[in-house]
Amino acid sequence: MQRKNSPIDTARANLSFDTKRSIMKKIVIAIDGHSSCGKSTMAKQLAREVGYIYVDSGAMYRAVTLFALRAGLFEPDGTIRHAELRARMPEVKVSFRLDEASGLPRTMLNGEDVEEAIRTIEVSNCVSPIATLDFVREAMTSLQQEMGKSKGIVMDGRDIGTAVFPNAELKIFVTASAEVRARRRYDELQAKGMPATFEEILHNVQERDYIDSHREINPLRQAPDALVLDNSTLTIEEQNEWLHYQFKQAVGE
Ligand code: C5P
Repeated sequence: MQRKNSPIDTARANLSFDTKRSIMKKIVIAIDGHSSCGKSTMAKQLAREVGYIYVDSGAMYRAVTLFALRAGLFEPDGTIRHAELRARMPEVKVSFRLDEASGLPRTMLNGEDVEEAIRTIEVSNCVSPIATLDFVREAMTSLQQEMGKSKGIVMDGRDIGTAVFPNAELKIFVTASAEVRARRRYDELQAKGMPATFEEILHNVQERDYIDSHREINPLRQAPDALVLDNSTLTIEEQNEWLHYQFKQAVGE
C-alpha cells in the first residue's frame, strides 16, 4: 500500500540533520510579496542555512489549479465551475515530499509529483482566480497553519504574515518593479526550456498582482509589522545576506 504523504512529516524530515538548531529558539518566518519577486529563492536559502522547513504556499494554490484544469473545471471563457470544484475539494490532497538530492520539498497532488506541472504559464494564468475562492483559501490556510504548528518554518506567499501566521516573529514583504520581475521569470523559464514570451509573462505578473491585491479574502497586503525589501537592484547574495541578518536579529543571536 502506498504511504500517504502528510504535508508535515515530509517537510519535517528536513530538520533531523540539524541538531544544533533544534536547541535554539524556533520562530515562524513569513515572506510575502508580489508575484515573481524572488521570495522563494530567499526563503529556500534561509531555510537551508538555518535548518528550517521551507513551504511554498503558492505551490499549493497552483496544485489546486492544476487539479481544476485537469478535471475540466474551467469554462472555455476562463470561468471556474465553482460548485463542482467546491464539491470535489475533498479529493484534492496537496502535500510535499522532500527531495533528498536538493534538500527541497517537491509539491505532490494526490500522491503525484507535480512540481514541474504547476509551473507552466497555463497554471500561472489560472491560479489567481482559483486563489480568490473562499473554500480554496480556507482549505489551504488550515493546511499551512498545521505545517507551522511546531515553528521552525519559512513560508512564502501573499497572506502569510497577515492571515496564516499573524503572530509570526519575522515578517518580510518583498517587492520589485513588474519589469524586473517579468525579466527574471522569463530567464528562469527559458533556462528550463519552458515556452513563454516576455510580454506574456509581464502581462501575467501584472494581472496576478492586481487580482491578488484586490480580492475580497485575505488580499496581498503588507502587514503593518513587516520589514519591506525592494530587491529591484539587489543581487541574490545581497538579499540573502539581508535576510540572514534579519533572522539573527529576530532569534536574538
Ligand atoms: O507564489 P506563486 O506566484 O507561485 O503563487 C501563485 C498564486 O497563488 C499567486 O499569484 C496568488 O494568486 C496565489 N497565492 C495566494 N496566497 C498565497 C500564495 C499564493 O493567493 N499565500
